[in-house]
Amino acid sequence: MEDLLKVDEEIYALVRQEEIRQTSKIRLIASENYVSTAVLEATGSVLTNKYSEGYPGKRYYEGQQIIDQVETIAIARAKTLFGAEHANVQPYSGSPANLAVYLAFLNCGDTILGMALPHGGHLTHGSPVSISGRYFNAQSYQLDPATGLLDYEAIAEKARSCRPKIIIAGHSAYPRILDFARFREIADEVGALLMVDMAHFAGLVAGGAHPSPVPYADVVTTTTHKSLRGPRGAMILCREKYAQAIDKAVFPGVQGGPHDNTTAAIAVALKEASTQEFRQYARQIVNNAAALAENLMARGYRLITNGTENHLMLVDVTNKGISGKKAARILDAAGIVLNCNAIPFDTRKPYDPSGIRLGTAAVTTRGFKEPEMLEVGRLLDEVISDPENEATHARIAAEVRDLCSAFPAPGLEHV
Ligand code: PLP
Repeated sequence: MEDLLKVDEEIYALVRQEEIRQTSKIRLIASENYVSTAVLEATGSVLTNKYSEGYPGKRYYEGQQIIDQVETIAIARAKTLFGAEHANVQPYSGSPANLAVYLAFLNCGDTILGMALPHGGHLTHGSPVSISGRYFNAQSYQLDPATGLLDYEAIAEKARSCRPKIIIAGHSAYPRILDFARFREIADEVGALLMVDMAHFAGLVAGGAHPSPVPYADVVTTTTHKSLRGPRGAMILCREKYAQAIDKAVFPGVQGGPHDNTTAAIAVALKEASTQEFRQYARQIVNNAAALAENLMARGYRLITNGTENHLMLVDVTNKGISGKKAARILDAAGIVLNCNAIPFDTRKPYDPSGIRLGTAAVTTRGFKEPEMLEVGRLLDEVISDPENEATHARIAAEVRDLCSAFPAPGLEHV
């Protein structure tokens, strides 16, 4: 980063500080990861200088000899890895990808049915504060209050009564595997399209550690930067019969020119995700989450659904005499970074909810296995059990730094 230092000392210093933060803390934010240096290099490449509105072979600008090849490779890898008939790799991120699906199939006011935000759904699945909830008639399904699990019969009932054009399966905070076949049945019964947003668990699907929604869904959206471990971006996978509608909705419907540097980095990430090492990585993410979940439950924490089957867990911390926000804040001070999160039927406000959300994709990338997850459980518990004691938090932060130094993260080995 010599040139960055020469040109802009201020930003250089901040990037360096962020490098130190990322390497010296235990990052448990379920949507984050560490990309490989290859992905970083593609993201930072001169492909950022190009404009390429349109699609390979059909662009509105000249000079596409190279970019067309890059995008064609990314598309082919996405189709092969996920067994999809069609792939669009241009969405800037998960939110525009979801918006493009709505634009492709809906008119303003049409009905969509997605998981309620406070129950683990995403803003773009119909929250009233999002365009998805403002421009469409957004209906939602909730979790079973007794088990915290999806109640498929209740979802079917809701679908029968509201007759959605699109049913959205997928989540940002649900610790269980989804029953895609059941979602398909419900969609078929009411004549809806089935859209699966696999943003959170796409890496697990790629690595064979989570069932694939692709055989069941009409359209699958995903970000590329969470468990899939690629750059900030997104993809839409769909059946061939929807290819044209999806492509038109992404460009020119929602976006202008694709970010070609990101497309290249997506291609690289997809290549990495096709390897045996990635399969082991995906399995280890799940094993690590299970180990941490067990450990926390043994320490008296209440996990929503009593455990996890994927990369994340949702923990109600109120029985420990603390709120989710406070827990997240003191844990951050102690070097353990996660986010507070609403739990199903939360009686507290969204800004200071009852729960915390933990994910294992990033720590697994840096090489944590089950023994380290037990350490994480112990460190986390020591902080939450002594919430007002800054000396404890400082001591744990030092222990966290020691643990992290034995597991350098990709791209940060020099820090
Ligand atoms: N879909 C799901 C399920 C997500 O969890 C997220 C982000 O967290 C998104 C979509 C949106 O992705 P982005 O933040 O890239 O717009």
